Amino acid sequence: MNSNTHRTVFRTCSLCEATCGLELQVEGDRVVRARGDSEDVFSHGYICPKGTAIAAIHEDPDRLRRPLIRRNGQHVEADWDEAFAEIEQRMLPLLEEHGRNSVAVYLGNPNAHHLAGSFYVRPVLKSLRTRNIFSASTVDQMPKHVSSGLLFGSPGTIPVPDIDRTDFLLMLGANPLESNGSLCTAPDFPGRLKAIRARGGRVVVVDPRKTRTARAADEHLFVRPGTDAMLLMGMIHALFDEELVDLGSVKDHVQGLDSVRVAAKSFSPERVAPACGVDGETIRRLARELAATERGVVYGRIGIHTVGFGTLASWATDVLNILAGKLDRPGGAMFPLAAHSRPSKGPGGRGFKTGRWQSRVRGLPEVLGELPVATLADEMETPGDDQVRAFVTIGGNPALSTPDSGRLEAALENLDFMVSVDIYCNETSRHADVILPPPSLLERGHFDCSFVGLSVRNVANYSPPVFEAEGPSESEILARLALIFGGQGAQADASELDAPMLRGLVEGHVGDPESPLHGRDADEIIAQVGERPGPEALLDVMLRMGPYGDAFGEKPGGLSLPQLEAHPHGIDLGALEARVPEILATPSAQIELAPESILRELDRLDEKLAGEEPDGLVLVGRRHLRSNNSWMHNVSSLVAGQTRCTLQMHPDDAEERSLQAGAIAEVRSRVGSVEVAVEVNADLMPGVVSLPHGWGHGQPGARLEVAAAHGGVNSNRLTDGLPLDPLSGNAVLNGIPVEVAPIAAD
Ligand code: SF4
Repeated sequence: MNSNTHRTVFRTCSLCEATCGLELQVEGDRVVRARGDSEDVFSHGYICPKGTAIAAIHEDPDRLRRPLIRRNGQHVEADWDEAFAEIEQRMLPLLEEHGRNSVAVYLGNPNAHHLAGSFYVRPVLKSLRTRNIFSASTVDQMPKHVSSGLLFGSPGTIPVPDIDRTDFLLMLGANPLESNGSLCTAPDFPGRLKAIRARGGRVVVVDPRKTRTARAADEHLFVRPGTDAMLLMGMIHALFDEELVDLGSVKDHVQGLDSVRVAAKSFSPERVAPACGVDGETIRRLARELAATERGVVYGRIGIHTVGFGTLASWATDVLNILAGKLDRPGGAMFPLAAHSRPSKGPGGRGFKTGRWQSRVRGLPEVLGELPVATLADEMETPGDDQVRAFVTIGGNPALSTPDSGRLEAALENLDFMVSVDIYCNETSRHADVILPPPSLLERGHFDCSFVGLSVRNVANYSPPVFEAEGPSESEILARLALIFGGQGAQADASELDAPMLRGLVEGHVGDPESPLHGRDADEIIAQVGERPGPEALLDVMLRMGPYGDAFGEKPGGLSLPQLEAHPHGIDLGALEARVPEILATPSAQIELAPESILRELDRLDEKLAGEEPDGLVLVGRRHLRSNNSWMHNVSSLVAGQTRCTLQMHPDDAEERSLQAGAIAEVRSRVGSVEVAVEVNADLMPGVVSLPHGWGHGQPGARLEVAAAHGGVNSNRLTDGLPLDPLSGNAVLNGIPVEVAPIAAD
């Protein structure tokens, strides 16, 4: 391309869940300016500092452009065929000798942010046929999937707060002014919160830290880490106790109400108050305010999910919305309708089950086809049949992002073989024998399959690649891995997977008596899709067969990929609408409020409440707007300025330990210790200390020059792999008991 060619392109930012529209000024092969797309139908010009840095990731000299193979202990560049051949030669004999479960897979969050992750990871897993599948879901969001599965019958049926129409938003453990929203896709979260207050509504934040979000709210309440389920049960108790329960529009679709009423009896606000640190009258007031505000909603996120009662807290959040009549109504908690989703066949379905198999070492139940990542090191370290000897990571950095990571790092050293699909040689992929780098974000087409299903407004946008990829696309890389693991060989062409996937999808519709395509000729449909890369071809079929689609001519004017391509600022599909009961997939076709597993958890919560609470310090994490877990620390503009990896501590706690601002302290937990600078900060609840996650760069062999210069410490050296949320297997990352002491001057 002529280096003087200037063009303006529009693109959805895929760096976080908010899906902001970007306007990129491109000169030749460089992005010379990135700003918010003022015409984007959803974000209206909003952008955060990460979005402006999207080109810096593309241009990062440390971003890998060619595969690396480990030779004599060093990573050296190789060509693609050589890299795939190496994988075939080393992985297949291992699988032959030790069985399919001898390989584990870890899927990182980026897989949720691109088409290849949405469509091509599954064939890799299918061809590996291992039960040792792990992902970032069990460090951040599995409780939400489990509670949704139990209540509504499907783990993907997640209600989101309808923040554009609410007048009362109660947020627990969420800090969207730093995270930009999570399991709630809402570009310009700050502006949307301001709008609630501008129209006379109220925002209340419950958090052990007075976060930026808390400071922007009408009210902030400190809560002791890990006790949110108690506080929420106190509110549920108050609704029953004060006869405020009114199920509203879902009243004919709910079962188990009496069981919840009985179970809530022992959680009076006055009883839970000392444990939570929120007084009983305040808990009652919040319950009354929720009930009395016609358009009100409760939203809980990572702080309440990454604890030992994570699923219970997630369940209680939704149950509060249901009992207060806020589910499935404008301004309450509503279900988005994604453009590429398959129309619901409900109400009614097979429901949601976990525990179809157990982990080998600790006997932990499978959830959503995965095992808890907190037990990954157990599976690698413990000898015996099915011991994990090989490892495949796809877009993840578990060495920094999973609990007790010191132990996992040691286990990675002893593997027989490891493959990483990653744009970086990071703290995890430095252990890999082969690293396969996918193209940069700007070298791929993009449609956010995951987050349009969690969006506070129904929208759809597709972004074509800005630049041509230097190597194979990520879908080609994953397809070739799937073909190797499936025995078709390293020379097999990715198209050998694309064509059957597309045909399978089309034939599924053609053969479905309820589909508008029923009885049509599959070849004729495939011809209409035309020549497109594999993921885009699948997307086009899904969009056309989705709730707004043109059904290949059956619904003229409906949505298709060509139509999205013609609308670079996206298409607004309207405000969220009521979806109960058609969305319910439980066997009863009802919202099942009181599954047995939840009632058992309530008994456990009751016992916990009756027991002694430890009185030492506990550790919580924290987010920063310029950071996204571990992988954006190699961008200078995002790590510049004051060091952010500090231990925040309340002044009283610091004084008690003779610690001053800037002093280096040793933080010690049951599993490890780190040394880190102290930041004395009155925004913390006394008894709580906070360390951000995703740091700890500068490991030997990693190739992240900028990140290494801003190394920080890895908070997961302190988090413990043993305690878990039992229903979801989610790691406990908040409320970790720690001791903090000054480092002696010598
Ligand atoms: S908020 Fe998220 S989607 Fe929006 S610009 Fe920032 S990183 Fe990108």
